[in-house]
Amino acid sequence: MKRVFSGIQPTGHLTLGNYLGAMRRWAEVDQHRADALFCVVDLHALTVEHDPARVRRLSRQAATLLLASGLDPEACTLFVQSHVDEHARLSYLLECVATDGEMRRMIQYKEKAAKEAARGRSVRVSLLTYPVLMAADILAYGTDEVPVGEDQAQHVELARDLAVRFNQRYGSTFTVPRATFPKVAARVMNLQEPTSKMGKSDESGLGVVYLLDETDVVRKKVLRAVTDSGRDVVYDRVERPGVANLLDVLAACTGGDPEVLSGEYDSYGALKKDTAEAVVEVLRPVQERHRELVADPGAVDEVLRAGAERARAMARPTVDAAYRAIGL
Ligand code: ADP
Repeated sequence: MKRVFSGIQPTGHLTLGNYLGAMRRWAEVDQHRADALFCVVDLHALTVEHDPARVRRLSRQAATLLLASGLDPEACTLFVQSHVDEHARLSYLLECVATDGEMRRMIQYKEKAAKEAARGRSVRVSLLTYPVLMAADILAYGTDEVPVGEDQAQHVELARDLAVRFNQRYGSTFTVPRATFPKVAARVMNLQEPTSKMGKSDESGLGVVYLLDETDVVRKKVLRAVTDSGRDVVYDRVERPGVANLLDVLAACTGGDPEVLSGEYDSYGALKKDTAEAVVEVLRPVQERHRELVADPGAVDEVLRAGAERARAMARPTVDAAYRAIGL
């Protein structure tokens, strides 16, 4: 059976981008077709200025929302990264294989470092080495496939490169993973700035639909989405990013095709209205299940405890082998 691994950062409230780009596929497809691990990657949340209590709260909320989205602890392994020491242990070894040039080329590093600098904050070393820790997350489990949104393509590519390099230098130790992307909505864009991705740590809350937004807030955000100056509904991600984004979201929510859907609308208003309702319908069951789970926090704790135990047992042999191979 294939081994699948993916993660989500507790750096903010989870978004529709996280759901359509990653979480929904994990629940509907990946956990049933593979030996799948899903992880709340809390160590990654320390790479920018953070409030300790908030990280703890958001980690728990992310785990709860993953369960609410349909992850079944009987079918997959759900855990929190910091509960399994192997991630940090392996990350150090991979830092001894990666180069600083490789790190500085990462698009996400450049963007996030620029944001920190704009806020007058210094850049943490861990922001630079973040992709190495992510490579460790993936490689520790002998992962074959990493289902992610398009924004993570470069990081998964690095994990591949490090696996190949390590294997060549020190003997075959790691499985070389590959990324898989959803067919539609692989990159959901910010509704107010459709040339940037919808990210959970964005400050423009109006452009980001959060999974726990109230129904009328979701409607308002979608209805106020920035569209383009044209009038006709065409699917063109470069020339008409706002409309294309709405078509992508509608297609992802209804199981349609964005090109085909574009032919069914002759006004932006109707497209926005249908998209808003489709998003509300997709979020409704997730929110209902989330409410039930919040009422039983002990059950979530137990899932995470058992998940960490299983994950540890899976990671340890590979990480131990890497320590031996590199000369320790
Ligand atoms: P964020 O950028 O919201 O902090 P994470 O880094 O925690 O997201 O990523 C969790 C998963 O969600 C990854 O697979 C990532 O590719 C996916 N993802 C995040 N934002 C989007 C988006 N706007 N569109 C599609 N997928 C996304």
